[in-house]
Amino acid sequence: MYFHVLTLFPEMIMDGLNTSILGRAMEKGCIRAEAVNIRDYTLDKHQKVDDYTYGGGAGMLMQAQPVYDCVRAVLNRIEQEKKSRVIYVTPQGRVFNQQMAKELAGEDDLIFLCGHYEGIDERVLEEVVTDYVSIGDYVLTGGELPAMVMIDAIARLVPGVLNNDESAMTDSFGNGLLEYPQYSRPRVWRDKEVPPVLLNGNHKLIEQWRLEKSLERTKERRPDLYEKWRAENDCCK
Ligand code: SAM
Repeated sequence: MYFHVLTLFPEMIMDGLNTSILGRAMEKGCIRAEAVNIRDYTLDKHQKVDDYTYGGGAGMLMQAQPVYDCVRAVLNRIEQEKKSRVIYVTPQGRVFNQQMAKELAGEDDLIFLCGHYEGIDERVLEEVVTDYVSIGDYVLTGGELPAMVMIDAIARLVPGVLNNDESAMTDSFGNGLLEYPQYSRPRVWRDKEVPPVLLNGNHKLIEQWRLEKSLERTKERRPDLYEKWRAENDCCK
């Protein structure tokens, strides 16, 4: 899986992605990432990439030409038989979730287009974007953090990125529920004991306990997910 992030702030992307688990995954070659500077594609002699919006209003808008040339250059480099998806990260998109992360983890290349200022000229979006995706109903100053959030969630589903691939399956949302509570040493901390069932080595009982706790927790914290799970599992718990 190769992530291509088109941005005005490439160092922000590479500093973020080169760290910890994703950094190690890149060293191992499980994933690749590049940050492409949109400014390198401007034809403006002063390297300008933004201008005022027609019709007035606060703030500057990223112009069509540098964005278009940047996307085309990346597509020309990577495109083989399969059309690559170009994701514009925007508060106006479908809200990202684990299901989307799973679906996108099956792609060979993903292009993320990051807006800044007031966003990007609509005409170039119409020409190049295949998916509009948001990370939630709030507005950030730029698309770099949303792109990194999505890349992190997608990359950890790529085989080999996590040391133990099973952990992505048991994490929250893997089976439609929130994950059960977890404990590590010591066995007693501030008078709080680890639940005894986790110490008895009976894997069947442990699985049962974990499912019960997952259900309890999901019902309490995310009743919407709980109801969906119940409907899908035809169950009256
Ligand atoms: N004027 C735009 C609007 O009202 O929809 C907001 C522009 S925002 C200040 C600048 C850039 O940040 C956007 O072009 C987008 O790339 C990114 N961005 C901001 N909030 C986001 C969110 N919730 N999800 C994804 N991207 C976001």
